[in-house]
Formats: sequence, C-alpha cells, structure tokens
Amino acid sequence: MHSICANNVFWYHYAARLKPFSLRERPLKLLVVSDLHYSLKQFDWLLERAAQHDLLVIAGDLLDLAGHADIDTQIVVVEKYLAKLAAMLPVAVCSGNHDLDEESANGDRHAEWLQHVNLEGVLVDSQTAFHDGLMITICPWWEGDDAKARVQSLIEADAARRGSSRWIWVYHAPPTGSKTSWNGKVYSGDTFVAGLIERHKPDIVLGGHIHNSPFYDSGSWHDRIGDTLVFNPGRQMSSIPTCISIDFDAMHATWESSEGEEQIEIPATSAYSPAG
Ligand SMILES: [Zn+2]
Repeated sequence: MHSICANNVFWYHYAARLKPFSLRERPLKLLVVSDLHYSLKQFDWLLERAAQHDLLVIAGDLLDLAGHADIDTQIVVVEKYLAKLAAMLPVAVCSGNHDLDEESANGDRHAEWLQHVNLEGVLVDSQTAFHDGLMITICPWWEGDDAKARVQSLIEADAARRGSSRWIWVYHAPPTGSKTSWNGKVYSGDTFVAGLIERHKPDIVLGGHIHNSPFYDSGSWHDRIGDTLVFNPGRQMSSIPTCISIDFDAMHATWESSEGEEQIEIPATSAYSPAG
C-alpha cells in the first residue's frame, strides 16, 4: 500500500476541494497532454515546454500498470516531475485507468496517491479551481456505481456554481459517439460522460484514453457535442508527446504530433472572454 490513509479519506475532501488557483496572469494558454504512461522522456519534454503556457493539463494515465517500474516507484518519480512542473505553472491532473493504486472496500480501484500530491498549484481528482472567469473540474476515473455517483455529484455541485464561467472538465475517458473515442473499430468511449455533457453543457472537456483516435480517418483529436468542445491529444511512441495547446487569446486550439500540426477555431459561445 502506498498510502497510510483510510480509503474513505479519498472521497471526503469535499469541503477543501475548491482550491485557490494562483496564476501569474490570466490562463490564456493551456497545454494539454494525456496518456504519458510513465514515459520519462515525455515528462522531460513537458519540463522544457511548460514555460510557454499558463496552465498544464495532464488528462490521466501518468503511470503505466503494464511493465516498467513497480507502481510505488513510478509514483515517487512522477511526483517529482509534478513538483518541478508546479514550480513553473499550475497543473491539473485527473486519474486514468493506469493510475489506480488502491482498492476501496467495495472493490473499486482509485488513484489514492494523487490525493496525497500535496503541492501548491497542483489540482487533482475531485477538486475544482476557479480563476477569473474560468472554472476547471477534475473528474477521477471511476469504476462501479458508488464512484460514478460521486462524479455525478461533483459535476452537479459545480454546475450550480458555474455562473457565467467558462467551464472545463478534465475527464480521462472520451464520450462515446464522439470522434475522440474512435479506436479503429468502434466508438469506445464513456456513455456516462456523454450523458453528463448533454445535460450540463460544459464549454470544453479534456480527455485521452483512446490513444489512436486522432490518427484515424474516422477519429479525431477534437469534436463537438452541441456547444461543448471535446479534445483528446492521443498518444505517440516518441520522446515528444502528442499535445494540444489551447489559446484563449487567439481563440484557437492546435494539435501537435509527429504528423504535423492541425488547428481549429474556438467558437465564442461561452460568456467567458479574456479581457483585452
Ligand atoms: Zn492510456
């Protein structure tokens, strides 16, 4: 066991889960990666690149349960990277299915270690950050009905306080039916988040999980569900991760991979608009 805390501690940071969000300036440039799967070269690349951005989002699967070092070693190493990154810019991290180090009494696994990443400027599962017209909700990977219900309450609580903020969810699995969930054969995403998106209409959902969807003709790194933009940077076997930079000043999102760059406009559908 990595943690000495009781399993139920994980879920009940609710009162403390609204984190102050310290930024040097407005979060105009986001860098989004996912599915690094303990690629230390890709973490090294983040250290070089992060300074060009105002906020870094790592949308799950920081660790890799198959092979590599044992999970506790991976956690120690990744925590060191998060500390270095957090010294440069705020970092929002959600768990993916490869990040689960503990099992609750009901058999559901969860990323307990993330709850103990007690670094200023790092936002983790079940926390929400507000900053100047931006609200970011970090959703944990869920298995089983209890955890799913907690994700639903997290979203519903934040929906009630959303106001006119631009609302961004960090959620590892892409919504079923979206191009970001195409795995080469089927749209293999998460039906639950697809329903939540339809109901709550966030502005942007940042995920990953389906590594190759950006590289398929029937898939994509971006999609739109109603007015919600959904992104999945994908994954490539390289020292440079695939990534998406979202620029709220220029109002565009750019995907970078070994195949080059693609860019889309971000429609000004939200009440959030950066001050001049
Ligand atoms: Zn993955």
